This record gives sequence, C-alpha cells and structure tokens, in this order.
Amino acid sequence: MKIQFLGAAQTVTGSCHVIEAAGHRFAVDCGMHQGNKAIEDRNFDTELYRPESIEFILLTHAHIDHSGLIPRMSANGFKGKVYCTAPTCDLVTLMLEDSAYIQEMEYSWREKQRKRTGKKEENDLLYSVEDAQKCVKQISVVEYDTPFEPAPGIKVTYKYAAHILGAAFIIIDITENGENKRLTFSGDLGRPENMLLFDPSPLEKTDYLFLESTYGNRDHKDEKNSLDELAEAIDRSYKMGGKVIIPTFAVERAQEIMYCLSLLDIQGKIPENMPIYLDSPLAIKATEVFINYKDKLDFHEISNNISALRDFSKKVRYTLKTEESQALNAMNGPAIILSASGMCNAGRIKHHLKHTIWRPETSIVFVGFQAVGTLGRKIVEGATSISLMNNELNVSAKIYTINGFSAHAGQKELLEWVSTIAESKPHVVLIHGEKTAQETLAGLIKEKFSLNVTIPEYLEELELTEKADHSKIAPSLAKHSMPKLDWQFVLEDLDTRIKQVHTKLADVQQRPWEDQTEIHDKLAKLNHDIYKLIAEL
Ligand SMILES: [Zn+2]
Ligand SMILES: [Zn+2]
Repeated sequence: MKIQFLGAAQTVTGSCHVIEAAGHRFAVDCGMHQGNKAIEDRNFDTELYRPESIEFILLTHAHIDHSGLIPRMSANGFKGKVYCTAPTCDLVTLMLEDSAYIQEMEYSWREKQRKRTGKKEENDLLYSVEDAQKCVKQISVVEYDTPFEPAPGIKVTYKYAAHILGAAFIIIDITENGENKRLTFSGDLGRPENMLLFDPSPLEKTDYLFLESTYGNRDHKDEKNSLDELAEAIDRSYKMGGKVIIPTFAVERAQEIMYCLSLLDIQGKIPENMPIYLDSPLAIKATEVFINYKDKLDFHEISNNISALRDFSKKVRYTLKTEESQALNAMNGPAIILSASGMCNAGRIKHHLKHTIWRPETSIVFVGFQAVGTLGRKIVEGATSISLMNNELNVSAKIYTINGFSAHAGQKELLEWVSTIAESKPHVVLIHGEKTAQETLAGLIKEKFSLNVTIPEYLEELELTEKADHSKIAPSLAKHSMPKLDWQFVLEDLDTRIKQVHTKLADVQQRPWEDQTEIHDKLAKLNHDIYKLIAEL
C-alpha cells in the first residue's frame, strides 16, 4: 500500500494524492496548481498522474485547487467515477466550466501574442469548456456518513468538514492481504465558528491522518474584530469618495462576505448611498446554489432578523455581463465591489485593481489565503508597485488583510482536532501548507502528542507499511521536476548581450533621432528592471 503526492506537498495548491492499495489505484482530489509559472507548469505534467490507470477520484470539495485538473484527466484517459456530495456536484460543475472558459481565453491571448511576435503555435490549452462539460458526467453523488465501496476492499465515508458548502473529510478503510488500515484525509478543514456552516464532524480513530496545514503557524483573529475591520475600510473609503475592492473566491467566501456585509448593514454600518456589487458571474451562480441548499446553512447570527437579510439582498447589484463590469471602472464615487479571483491571478478583479490600486481613496480588502507567486500575495506583502496587464502601477490604496473570515482551521483548531484521537497514535502526514507553516505545526504535534509526523515533498511516495510508526519514505522524485538552475550560464549570457549592445552603439547613433530615442527608452527600461530585480535580492 502506498501513496504518492502529486500536489499540495509543501505548497497549498494542486491537491492530488494517488493511492495504490488492494490492487487498485485511485486519487483523493485532483486540483490545479496555482502560483508562479514554475508551479503552474506542473498542470501540464499529465503523464505523471497516469490518468488512464486512475480507477476513481474521491473529491473532498469543489475548490479549483482540489478539482481543477479533473477535466484534463478525463480528456487524457481517466474513465472512472468522481465521487462527491450533492452541493459539491452543483458547485464543481459551475467552477470547472468557469475554469475552462478562463483557460480558453488565456490560450487565445497567448496565441495572439505568439502570432504578433512571429512565434509558432503551441498546444498549451490546459482544457476546453467541452472537456469540463464532459467530465462532470462522471460525477457520482454520495451522502455524508454513509459508507460506500467504490472498489472491492475499499470502503469510503464522507464526513462533514465545514470548510465550504458540500466539503468533506474522507475516511478510507482498506483491506489488503487480510489486514485493515484506515486512512483519513482532512480535505480542507473548516472552523467551528464559521459564519454560514455548522461545526466539522469529530475526527475518528485512524492509522494515518493526512492533515491540511494552511494555517499551521498561525491563529485567526476573531470574527468580531474582522467585522469591525471591514466596517473601518468601508467607512474610510466612503468618507474619501473611493471604492472598497474585495478580491474574493467566488464560492463560499463571496457568499460569506455578503453575509458579513448584511450583518454590517443591519448594524447601520453601510451608508445608504454606497452601492454593493457582486461582480463575478461564477460567484453569482454559486450564490444561487447556496440559496438552493439554504436548509444546510447555519444563519445563526441573523435568524431573528430575516427581513433585514431580505432588504440587504435587494441592495446587492449583480453584474453578470462584461459591459456591466466595465461600467464599474468608469463609475465615480464610493462603492463596494466583490470580484474574483480571490488571489488576483485571473478574472475581473485584475481590471478593478488596474483602475483603483493607485488611488489613495481605495481600500483593498483581502479576505482569503494568498498563495506564493500570486499577485495577491505580492500586494499583501507590501509591494509598492505592481505590474498588471502591461501597466506599472503604484500601490497607493490602503491594503487590509482580514484573516478572521478564513474558511480554514487555524493552528489552535487543527491541534484541537488532532488531540481528540491523539491517544490512538495515528501517523500524521502534513499536506496542503507551505513548508514553514508545516514545520511549525509538525513541531507542535510531536511535542504535544508524541506522534510521528511526515512532511512529504512534491512527487514523493510514502510506503504505508504494516505498522504505522514504521513507515518509510521512498526516495524523492521531486528532483526530476526541479532541475538545477544554471546561474553561471544565464549571467555569462547577459554579459555577452550587454557587450553586443556596446559594439552596435556606433551604428545606432547613425539612425534617425526617433529610432534612437526608442532604443534608448528600451535600454532604460531594461536597466530599471535590473535595478528592481537587484532590490529584490
Ligand atoms: Zn478549499
Ligand atoms: Zn485547498
């Protein structure tokens, strides 16, 4: 019995854990890698997944970092079922189609660039809308707390994880060579005091716990403070006549923030003449799914004030069409705009940032995790300027990072969850977190509960041997995907090019003055880019 980590290993995105056991090969999640180019290139390494031999996928929840590669797997030979809960089925259907649409748009943009610069065509479309529509036909809906057997010897139970509507943690009981072993995957674990969802189900005794660790090194501020901070951002921009821009994940976070805004509205903290826009077609459609499942949501804070909630929902303006979204950029005066994507790496939010980030009256409110390499991460880490859609923009807006709305358990909550089964001595494997967060959490789990903790690398294989505490790690394959960087070559090459510029200078000086200024400006820009790079080192 063994497991390979094809993503979310010392990173947060790309969740995919492939298990070989009892003569079967299957995956828990199959998510998209998100971040800088090197990370996103992993999405194209399809052969590493061997999709044709994956018998089924157990999907924990709809988020794209858990589901986003399923269309590519199906288009490349995966023929099995994708198991998930009913709300996840509805949400993931929307999300994959939206993701595919973005892939198609970005692909045609790249093609256009290539044509313009005389480069040849490349087949780098990750998947098409048609692929996404096809793969959702493979979904098979399952109920919480109801075991089922996707293959002989493998029994699976979905449990309530609270992270987003439909999210599950998954218990897998495997019988191999007459021996039983239990593997538990936390998926993304929610928080007990989540605004819209009930508390996660308790953990049960297990041999292996594959635990997410997004916030392994920090706790969240409480929600009351977060609501106050959101109110402060609204008040500030309202008084200055600016916009409050909230980059938000379209599913769950957008609905939760709307719910928070409705709480502030009830408290009279949203000015009458400050319109609220939900500017994300995906978020708008996902909100409909939430309304369909409203009996599965926990409106505890508002249950006495349902008419106020209705009044609020009438205030929100939904901008489905592109032109409506563009009109917001031209609009003056205070407004609250929720738009996707949550990490600012795609979608309409990029346009809103382009039009507002350089204005001091803008407040940009981050309400979710920002992965390494994303534009959102750069902004929250204090970038004073950003490059966005071929523009260099100063960051003059006030940046708020409000982490009290997180859909993930914080350090304290993760430890509490583990503590309930610590006596049974499970082997803990940390996934879905950055290395520093994982090392902190691992240290605490070892210290408090004396458990074995493993932090696997990308592509590493873990042999699940007879006794959980005698597990051994197979040699890492990660080196294959991270070739050694040839610094010497790139620096020498750069020196050679600069020398070539010197030798051509005499010719350049014979050209018309306009040509010379253009070349001069290009060199000045290069010089500035190198200056900026040096400042980052
Ligand atoms: Zn998630
Ligand atoms: Zn996740």
